[in-house]
Formats: sequence, C-alpha cells, structure tokens
Amino acid sequence: MAKSVDDLTSDEAGSPDTADLVAREEQVFGENPLEVRESDHYTHEYVGGFVEKWDDLIDWKKRYESEGSFFIDQLKARGVKSVLDVATGTGFHSVRLLEEGFEAVSADGSPQMLAKAFQNGLEYGGHILRVVHADWRWLNRDVHGEYDAIICLGNSFTHLFSERDRRKTLAEFYAMLKHDGVLIIDQRNYDSILDDGFSSKHTYYYAGEDVSAEPDYVDEGLARFKYTFPDKSEFFLNMYPLRKNYVRRLMREVGFQRIDTYGDFQETYQEGEPDFYIHVAEKK
Ligand code: SAM
Repeated sequence: MAKSVDDLTSDEAGSPDTADLVAREEQVFGENPLEVRESDHYTHEYVGGFVEKWDDLIDWKKRYESEGSFFIDQLKARGVKSVLDVATGTGFHSVRLLEEGFEAVSADGSPQMLAKAFQNGLEYGGHILRVVHADWRWLNRDVHGEYDAIICLGNSFTHLFSERDRRKTLAEFYAMLKHDGVLIIDQRNYDSILDDGFSSKHTYYYAGEDVSAEPDYVDEGLARFKYTFPDKSEFFLNMYPLRKNYVRRLMREVGFQRIDTYGDFQETYQEGEPDFYIHVAEKK
C-alpha cells in the first residue's frame, strides 16, 4: 500500500522532497492490462519513475526546437492573453507560455505531474507555476474564471475512454472559455495506426532516439503504448485511439463553430503521414 507522509519515519520525514515522494508509486495495470480501459486510470499511469522519466522522453530542448512557435503563433494571432493549460504534465507548455508573457494557469489531474511541473517551473527560468489539481470532467468545480484559450496538448485527450467523458470534458472546456475563446487539442494520428495495419505501428523515437515509444497492442478501443528508456526500464500507457474526424465532430457538436485541423511533423521518424494532428477550435 502507498505510504502517506504521516507514515514516514522521522528520518524520511525530515526531507520529504518531491522527487522522493513522486518516485514511490509504481504503475499498476492488474492481471489483464488489455482490459484496463477507464478514464480514471491515468492517475495510476503518471506515477513514480515514469513521471521522472517523462522529461527524458520529451527532452525540453529538442521539443522546443521541433515544435517551434506553432502554438504561440496560434494564440498570439487571436490576441490571447490568458491561457488554461489543462494537461500540464511536467509543465513544458506552461513554462513556454509564461516565457512568452501569457497569463497561465496550470491544471492536471495527476498530483505527481503537478509536483514535477512546479519544480520544473522554478528550474527553467524561476517561474512560479499557478498549479491546480483538477480532473477535466469536473474542471469548473476546481478552476475558476474564464480564459481566452485552453490548451490540452501532448496527446492527452486520448486518456478518456468513454464518449460521455469526452463530451463532458469538452463541455467543461467550452464553459471556461470567453465568448470568443479558442481550444487547442492535439492527438496522435491513430487513423493511420488503426487503418494501415502493422506497417504504421512504427516505433516513435524521442530525445535523440534514446527513448522509444511503440504500440504494444491496438484495437478500435485501446492503444497500449510501451515506452522504453536507455536504462531498459519500461512503462506503459493505455489510451483510446481517437479518430481525427470523430474528435472534430465532437467539438462541433459541443458548440465550437470553426475547427481547423493541422498535421504536424515533430517526430523524428516519418512515413509520409503526420504523426500528430492539432485541432484549433473557435467558440465564436
Ligand atoms: N501536456 C503535457 C505534455 O505535452 O508533455 C503532458 C501530456 S501527458 C501525455 C497527459 C497528461 O494529461 C497527464 O499529465 C495526465 O495526468 C493528464 N490527464 C489525463 N487525463 C486527465 C483528466 N481526466 N483530467 C485531468 N488531467 C488528465
């Protein structure tokens, strides 16, 4: 059973450093990992060593270079000032936003991720991130105010396993945007993985090819990816394989008026099709 801070011995409790607390918990998928298809499960996936390793996976400097100013340009072109980063993770985009002079609030449902993001904010430029622990499905309960933009990046929306949760989440995002607000969601190109068979299930290399992500199992209701790190440690994520047009339809049905979808090319391994799609949805 996971220990609470109260359970620690006095020695341990002397310096309950975040990295220490974060590293304690391990990923749990139970006896049949392929049956784990639940929106709540992400809190058991972004834990322990994986959170620490995540920044190796998405090496900040390389990510900064490959991503360029795409998101920043989209926001600036719309005169955005306030941004709610709903999938903060380890804080990459929140820090980027603060550097660019936006007002940012950083939300996530994983306390371990938020702890790491806060640390990273201090480390990369001395920023004090305004972190809020919130699950998207009840976002309005825990985050207040209205924002010019909401970003949900790094293939995060894929963690929702039921249509009901996806609709509820999009409705919560919609409600937290100003009347002319914009929502930006990105996603892996699952159409290609689902339709083009094994050939498209290539290994995605990150961080100078030191870290790999590859589909371990895929069907219409589950994309299970395996992440392998240079020290041979392995972690998994169970995700729902979102089809591009399905996401666009949901956004339209929730009320977004204009949805532009871009293909990007930020992965190092290419086979013609973009690896990621970015949906930019306007409320007005
Ligand atoms: N945006 C970051 C990036 O690009 O590096 C993190 C991406 S990570 C793949 C997905 C993040 O979404 C995790 O930090 C996870 O905790 C969060 N998340 C997943 N489902 C969530 C939910 N229902 N509510 C709030 N956060 C959620």
